[in-house]
Amino acid sequence: MRMTRVAGTFAGIAIAALALAGCNSGSPTSPGGDGDADGGDALWEVATDVSLEGSPTFDRASEADEIVIGVKSDQPGLGYEDAVSGERSGFDIEIARWIAASLGFDEEQITFETIPSANREQELVNGNIDYYVGTYSMTDARDEVIDFAGPYFITGQGLLVAADDDSISGPEDLADKVTCSVTGSTPLQRIRDEYNGEVTERQTYSECVEQLLSGQVDAITTDEAILAGYVAEDPDNLKLTGSPFSEERYGVGIADGDTVLKDHINTLFTDGGDVWTALFEEYLEPSGVEATQPEVD
Ligand code: GLU
Repeated sequence: MRMTRVAGTFAGIAIAALALAGCNSGSPTSPGGDGDADGGDALWEVATDVSLEGSPTFDRASEADEIVIGVKSDQPGLGYEDAVSGERSGFDIEIARWIAASLGFDEEQITFETIPSANREQELVNGNIDYYVGTYSMTDARDEVIDFAGPYFITGQGLLVAADDDSISGPEDLADKVTCSVTGSTPLQRIRDEYNGEVTERQTYSECVEQLLSGQVDAITTDEAILAGYVAEDPDNLKLTGSPFSEERYGVGIADGDTVLKDHINTLFTDGGDVWTALFEEYLEPSGVEATQPEVD
């Protein structure tokens, strides 16, 4: 029931976004971003004659004539898949499409795989995906097994509570509460390591939202940019509380050692400030997220 409402509400936003994005139809002639529906130019072209000598990932994708990208599917504004149309949208999804286009892959050659937080490193290590774009914080522990391009976005850990709950204004107030977060995520680890209170974990944040709306948990903790997307869906029932209490630097997860691909993506980000701003304004600013484009490492 609630999921239907979430999907339905977002469909409205998605349709507006699609109108702006030249329908994002998957046609190679209408790449993602701000397309021709409003008379503007497409944000990017699909590159031709790309050569990325020394990138095993690029070689594999070229050979397969397909690029496989790991993403999220339940994070409105970031990585979202419409349950009815199957349309993927959000800031992370467009970043993923932009990278694919820069490598010469059009929409028809992209396969999106929904992969939860806990499985990201393993899917990259196994070579099941070519790269991952989904609220993926660059951490030293993850860097041991994979590499990151970026950062392309910075947010911080926050708290989501019921709109009528005034008893929580920071992580210190969670001692006698039940908080939901996601397996394998940095916010789950931090709330366990540094604060008191009961913590319950799920595979996805939308499962946590279900639990909060039905009163089974008191709070959800993860990155504010993710939580703001849920609030935008359901502002009558949900609100952000307190201030961010970490720095989460989002990177693109790639195979360990593929420095050629890493450099390619970092150059794309560095040279693509206009694209970044257009995507931010379209997908994240509407839910009240504030950010500027970070410099890549
Ligand atoms: N950015 C955090 C992380 O990478 C939380 C969001 C997520 O689970 O994707 O763990």
